[in-house]
Order: sequence, then C-alpha cells, then structure tokens
Amino acid sequence: MSELPRIVIVGAGLAGMCAAERLRELGFDGEIVIVGAESTMPVYRPALTKQFLTGELGLKEVITAPTHDLDALWRLNTVVSQLDPQRRVVHLPGGEELEYDGLIIASGVEARRLPGAMRAGSRVAVLRTIADSKRLRQALTGARDPIAVVGTGFIGCEAASSIRSLGHSVVLIGTSKLLMGNLLDAGHAQRLTELHRRHRVQLQLGTRVEQWAAGGSKVQLRLSNGRQLDAAFVVAAAGSVPAVSWLRDSGAVLDNGVVCEATCHVAGLEDVVAAGDVASWPNLRFDTKPRRVEHWTNAIEMGRAAAENLLSGRGSATPFTPVPRFWSEQHGLRIQAAGMPAVGSKREPMDPTTPGGHSLTGYYRDDTLVGVIGFDNSAAVLNYAKTFTDKAPLGAAAPPVPAAPGPVTPKPKPDPRPEFLRV
Ligand SMILES: Cc1cc2nc3c(=O)[nH]c(=O)nc-3n(C[C@H](O)[C@H](O)[C@H](O)COP(=O)(O)OP(=O)(O)OC[C@H]3O[C@@H](n4cnc5c(N)ncnc54)[C@H](O)[C@@H]3O)c2cc1C
Repeated sequence: MSELPRIVIVGAGLAGMCAAERLRELGFDGEIVIVGAESTMPVYRPALTKQFLTGELGLKEVITAPTHDLDALWRLNTVVSQLDPQRRVVHLPGGEELEYDGLIIASGVEARRLPGAMRAGSRVAVLRTIADSKRLRQALTGARDPIAVVGTGFIGCEAASSIRSLGHSVVLIGTSKLLMGNLLDAGHAQRLTELHRRHRVQLQLGTRVEQWAAGGSKVQLRLSNGRQLDAAFVVAAAGSVPAVSWLRDSGAVLDNGVVCEATCHVAGLEDVVAAGDVASWPNLRFDTKPRRVEHWTNAIEMGRAAAENLLSGRGSATPFTPVPRFWSEQHGLRIQAAGMPAVGSKREPMDPTTPGGHSLTGYYRDDTLVGVIGFDNSAAVLNYAKTFTDKAPLGAAAPPVPAAPGPVTPKPKPDPRPEFLRV
C-alpha cells in the first residue's frame, strides 16, 4: 500500500466529486481514488428529464468537471461489489481489493424497477443515466403511438412535460389522484395536474399498470381501471432505491439508505462517511430522525461536509445541518422548495395565488414553519431559505454542559483526527 494515506470514494457522481474537491481544498495530500460504476465523469442529472431530453443541451454540457485539478485516480466503469471494514478494503471486479484509510460512500440511488415491466422487453426504460435519456430520445423519433410514463413524481412529470414540448403524444399514469401528490399540498397538486392537462398530457390517474406485454413495435399495457393502452415506449418513473447492495454484511446500518450520525459518519463503521442521495442522516436543523434528501444542491453540500468531517475525525466533527433546496420545471412552471416540507404535518397557503401565478405554501410542524414550496415564486422561496439558514439548528440549542465544580486537572487533549491522519 502507498505510504500516503488513501481515501477511497465509492460513487463518481456529484457528491463523490464534491467530496474530493473539498479534501484537496483542505490540504489533504494523500491519494484519492474515485470508483464509479458509470463510464462518464459525474452527470448533471437534472438535465436528463429536461434540456438533454429536449436536445437543448448536448453530451458535453451535461458531464460535469471538477472546479480544480483533483490529482485523483478515477476508476470509472468499475463496480464495487463489497466492503470489508475489518481489513479496510473494497472489492473490485476481477478479485481486486482496494485498500483505504478513509472511505466516502457516495453511491447514490438506483431507479426502482416496476414489477412485470421486464416482460415488455426493450421498449421500457428508467430515467437515471445519460444512456437512459438517449434511449428515450431515440424512441421518440418516428414514434406513432404515445409514450407512456408510469409514475407521477417529479421525474415522471418532468419527462411528460419534455416529451410534450417536442410535440409527441404522452400518457402519464399513476396511482395518486393528483400529480406530485406526495410532496405538494392539494391546491398546488391540483394546479399542476390542470397545467399538464392544458398542455394535452393524457392523464390516467388513480390507476396502476396490471399487465405488460411486448407487441411488435409497441408495448401493450392493461391498467387497473380496465383501459388498454398501446405505447411506443414506456418510461418507468416509480421512484428510487438507495444503491447499498455492496454494503450488505459490512456492519453499516442500512435502513432506506446508509444510516449516518449527524456528522455524516456512518453508524457502525470507523473512518467512513457518506454523502448525497444514498445517505440517511438526522438534519438537526429540523429534527432528529435520519432521512435521505435526493436534491442536487444537497449532494454538493453533503459531499463537502462529509469530506471535512472525515478529515477532522469523529471527535471534532460538526453536524451537517443544511437547508435543503429543490427545483423542478414543467411546461414553463418553476416549482421550488426550501427546508424540509416532509417534516411538516400541516400545510397552509402563505400567499394567495396572484394573477402571475406566483404562490407559496408553508409546511408546519406544530406551529413552526419547517418548509415552503412555491410555484413561480423564486424570490419568496429563496427568502425563506435564508430565514431557515439564519435560525439556530436544533443541535445548537442544546443546553450547555455545566462546568465541573472545583479545580479540574487538565487532561491531555485527545487528537481528534482519525488515526490514519495522525503523524
Ligand atoms: C432524471 C433526474 C432529474 C433530476 N432533477 C433534479 C432537479 O431538477 N432538481 C434537483 O434538486 N435534483 C434533481 N435530481 C436529483 C439529483 O440529480 C441527485 O440528487 C444527485 O445527482 C445526487 O448525486 P449523488 O452523487 O448522490 O448520486 P449520483 O449522481 O447518482 O452518483 C452516484 C454514483 O455512484 C455510482 N455507484 C452506485 N453503486 C456503485 C458501486 N457499487 N460501485 C461503484 N459505483 C457505484 C452510480 O453509478 C452513480 O454514478 C434529478 C435526478 C434525476 C435522476
């Protein structure tokens, strides 16, 4: 093994790249190895349902690059199959073992597969990678039947909007009665549903696909409401699952993601942190329950925070308490969120909808505002993001530890850095 400490990052996505950038900014001069299953450098995924799908952005523009030279070894096209924390190695193809002193888990999520969809053959795809988005684009060329999109979360809704903007016919299918009904309040979800209808997206809501069959140049779908549908291609947009299969039996706590402490340190493991979509951690600014946040800005901020806390060591690490922000664009409408609406149990309109269509909903836990979602209302959402940022995180509000009575013999201060960084 190298004489310098080696930090291995599993996942060559945004969180992984941002973690590597931060390690170098902080002066880490050991080896950085970034292992990624995809064949490209990190991808600007938000464009895969938007500008890349519509052709406004090309391949070069959706591949992101580090802001400065990372002097890192990128092992792309390489899947990590296992983690052995006792021996501090990750397993690579061909029996190769890669040793690490510090490990950053940034393996993201995978698209959830729909039961039965495999039977419909190659005309069904998820939307997660450049290859997925390209396949959908190709399928649009010369498609005579509509494209079916199964799933009414933000990925399904964005895909439907982009497909319509290219003039193709699209059917959006989902079990909920309203689009993005899991996240949005009823008023906003209703408005979004009407917007899609106005743009002639055919909606099949409150129903599920019961049968899939490949039929020549089309896929035949039977829905639970009894309808039959022929589609030229199907986009399966049924959510995501954390990419953690390589962590089974490693001792990492897995519960809808890899469970971390507030500082991004992975519960149950030493010198291992996690960041991005895969990481479930308690954001003490809002509450103490570990949750995952699948947002672009979170992957950046958490990648950086995880790198900082890996270098500083568990003992002196600081809780990662961001204000999550998210956006989506559909038929020219910009949906933005700040804070953690999911934590709120009560939703209330904060701004009546104005003639320009701007509106804002507040999400409250007890009487405390914990999140906002706005339609075409950037200024208000960003303002609230700032308000959340200015508030003290929960952790900071903890009562100070009372001073011990009488003189205390000072103990030698333990070196807070992880062992691999001590000289
Ligand atoms: C189509 C689409 C549109 C989106 N639009 C928006 C948007 O409008 N706004 C927004 O805020 N967010 C959006 N997001 C979410 C945002 O893109 C993600 O939150 C962000 O990319 C997460 O980055 P990450 O680095 O955690 O994960 P990823 O970018 O997924 O990177 C993880 C990497 O790890 C690799 N990997 C997994 N397992 C292994 C393994 N065992 N070995 C090696 N490598 C492995 C994966 O192949 C992947 O390359 C969108 C996501 C998608 C898919």
